[in-house]
Amino acid sequence: MEKIEHIGIAVKDLEDSNDLYSKLLGVNHYKTEEVSSENVKTSFFQTGESKIELLEGIGVDNAISKFIEKRGEGIHHIAFAVEDIYEEMQRLRKEGFVLLNEEPKRGADNKLVCFVHPKSANGVLVELCQEILD
Ligand code: ZN
Repeated sequence: MEKIEHIGIAVKDLEDSNDLYSKLLGVNHYKTEEVSSENVKTSFFQTGESKIELLEGIGVDNAISKFIEKRGEGIHHIAFAVEDIYEEMQRLRKEGFVLLNEEPKRGADNKLVCFVHPKSANGVLVELCQEILD
């Protein structure tokens, strides 16, 4: 894996949290995006080389709302940039990690993504992401 690409934070209200994080980080978010396949709205902040993704669930049937219900708002996942997501997924499977999806899927911010089950990573939800070059 190359580096931490972003840290995902589950929030109840994206608008409120955009205000909060723009005050905290001293920059405004550079994009918002709805990922309809996941029923989430996201926004992205960049400070230096680091990115923060805020996520709000749409409706009740989505991973973010369920996460907040169980654990409250907070850090939801850590995403690592990878050069070849298929290769990395295969490597992790061989190492015994449980992946949450069989195939990479299209995530926010123009990425192919795959998640590693938190049970196989000390309670941390790990996201692999590869930039889609088009
Ligand atoms: Zn993410």
